[in-house]
Amino acid sequence: MSETRLWNVAVPAPLRRALTYEIPAVLGEVQVGQRVLVPLHGRRVTGYLLEPYTGLVPTAFSIKPALSLLEDTPALPSELLRFLAEASSYYMHPIGEVLRAALPSGSDFMEKGGVLRGPQVKLHRSEARVRPTAEARRGGWDLGRARSLRSLLETLVERGDVGVRQLRVADKQVRQKLTRLADLGFVELYEAAEAPNPYIGASVPRDEPPQLTGEQSSAVRALCERIDRGGYEGFLLHGVTGSGKTEVYLRAIERTIGYGRGALVLVPEIALTPQLVTRYRSRFGDALAVVHSAMTPRERGDQWRLLRCADVKVAIGVRSAVFAPVENLGIVIVDEEHDGSFKQERGFHYNARDLALLRAARAGAAAVLGSATPSLESFRNAHTGKLTLLRLEKRATAQALPEVVIVDLTKHRSGPGGQQLISQPLFSAMGQVLQRGEQIILFLNRRGYSPALLCRSCGKLPRCTACAVSLTYHRKPVGLVCHYCGQRREVPLHCPECGAQALEPVGAGTQKAESVLAELFPRARVARLDRDVASGRDIEGVLERLRSGEIDILVGTQMVTKGHDFPNVTLVGVLAADVGLHMPDFRAAERTFQLLTQVAGRAGRSGKAGAAMVQTYSPEHPAIVAASRHDYHAFVRSEARFREELRYPPFGRLAALRLSSADEAKVEDTAGRLCAQLRDVKTKLGLSDLDILGPAPAPIAMVQGQHRHRLLLRGPTHDILRRALEPVLPFIEGPSAGVRVSLDMDPVSML
Ligand code: ADP
Ligand code: ZN
Repeated sequence: MSETRLWNVAVPAPLRRALTYEIPAVLGEVQVGQRVLVPLHGRRVTGYLLEPYTGLVPTAFSIKPALSLLEDTPALPSELLRFLAEASSYYMHPIGEVLRAALPSGSDFMEKGGVLRGPQVKLHRSEARVRPTAEARRGGWDLGRARSLRSLLETLVERGDVGVRQLRVADKQVRQKLTRLADLGFVELYEAAEAPNPYIGASVPRDEPPQLTGEQSSAVRALCERIDRGGYEGFLLHGVTGSGKTEVYLRAIERTIGYGRGALVLVPEIALTPQLVTRYRSRFGDALAVVHSAMTPRERGDQWRLLRCADVKVAIGVRSAVFAPVENLGIVIVDEEHDGSFKQERGFHYNARDLALLRAARAGAAAVLGSATPSLESFRNAHTGKLTLLRLEKRATAQALPEVVIVDLTKHRSGPGGQQLISQPLFSAMGQVLQRGEQIILFLNRRGYSPALLCRSCGKLPRCTACAVSLTYHRKPVGLVCHYCGQRREVPLHCPECGAQALEPVGAGTQKAESVLAELFPRARVARLDRDVASGRDIEGVLERLRSGEIDILVGTQMVTKGHDFPNVTLVGVLAADVGLHMPDFRAAERTFQLLTQVAGRAGRSGKAGAAMVQTYSPEHPAIVAASRHDYHAFVRSEARFREELRYPPFGRLAALRLSSADEAKVEDTAGRLCAQLRDVKTKLGLSDLDILGPAPAPIAMVQGQHRHRLLLRGPTHDILRRALEPVLPFIEGPSAGVRVSLDMDPVSML
């Protein structure tokens, strides 16, 4: 009598547990990670073999047989699959949805169950692009009453050359409009060859590794010792901006590859520019897989196949790359580990920084978290010995850190011309820098022209009908835009509330800054960088113009603050340091400190000395004072005191439960019932040091027509949160019709 083989199989469905299937003898031998086609609710779906089922054999008829095997070699290395299972359990998120989030979605990896197409990776595709004609650039267009054509053309003239696919994301009908504009002679549509990932283009020459500084050598030595011995160890590489952390990563990767092991490098969203990838390519050649967020599922699939089927050992990418199938993983690096973009805020809420440590631990690999401003979590882990601390206190080049000057806006209320954006001291400093032919970066964390239109008659602001926020006034192209749902409206002539013709923009965003600069410095070449001008390759276009000296002043949002290295930028200005400081979020001060330190770090990176000027209404705030003195430890000391008192991370753990519904009463009621259940669990299990905060409306109480409530759990350990949450999981999965509940373990965003 042949034995029945039963396996636990993870299927892409919102089920917390794997399902058990029989593997019929005709399917032959099977391995962990292989994909099988299995029946589920009358459909056929792809499942992943997790592990043999070892429990009691239930009555045979309740278990269905798998239909077929989808491949001979497992699509997923078993190390990766086990890691995903563990991640699912840590975040208390269904394994099927974890797989769905982790794997390149779409055709050949999931759902349809197609077979791996083999090792060929298509290297060239063509892509439809569009650019405005000279006639369009001259302006004075005759477009009749076609408003949407006009606003599209305005966008195109502003952005220059764009991919049609990118435009389609915002407007499904854009193709018809483009054809119409082409017929009128305003735009030109053309095809351009597109590399499978835009970061591997023309080949780059190999670089000559520099002589390491003393500090770099010590760090590299410590890492290599671990790499030589093998096994897990987590490191925190705390190095000031410009201290040469990347060179340390490169040496450690080189050593790892020398042992035939693989490397995984995670970088923040915005840092993944060709400039950064080029540094890795010039050291290791083109055998790199690159994962960025703008990739289509097909492109992501190509990068997966590179790692699975070709001899590619190094993967570099944004947060989702933590799931890349690098084989025989020897090192995991998280650059700028404090960065918020490592946190996934939808669906499967994971933190790639934390998962990187878990993955390295399970793979027996070294892990390096690098930053000039480590998160309090990582700093504490170094303090308690969970991470080995490596420090780089000096810049790699001889240049000192920039001098940071605080400009007190309560004393310098209005600057030249009466405007309130550029104070007199910043204006003078800018003038001197421009005189010397050097460049300036200005940072303002608000896009658009003005954060709001205010009615001078009734004091009301036009608000988004679907979100509880005011609409941002944009001038390029003109309109009111909701920064939460993207809804766009025409600018009303009269106040929608009182009918008065008294609407005026208040406050300033990057678009206004751009026009103020043009007036203050008529001879300077000013450019703007934010999400409205730039996505993907456009960002690099603007940065390239800054590098080549075609831009004198670049003003922008967070995009200008990250990792860039521009030798001729000698002045950095922060226009409004307070913007983020007063958010209802316990990490507001930490974020402000990090941002100021990072942005100041952009100045004076080569032979020329740099300076930073920080305009603020809170010149005494500890985050601002510490950033101006480059004093990370002073900031951490003051911040840690407050966190410890309130038992916030890193001195306690949090889990957020977010509820949303179109029906306000329903969401309130459900939140109340969930809270009651949690209080019940707390009493029954005697979890006296668990705090249940809320339920309360979220700080932004409505987004896209969904009313939002939330509950926060706070406890000393992850385990206590887990014990409280486990009994209410059924409630979280299916609370009541029309209400959605999501669980966010270790939340980052408090809004
Ligand atoms: P970080 O990531 O720590 O801010 P980078 O890795 O970008 O710093 O390095 C800053 C600059 O110093 C870069 O231009 C880099 O090429 C240069 N650099 C790094 N290490 C050395 C070294 N050992 N000798 C000379 N220059 C170096
Ligand atoms: Zn909205």
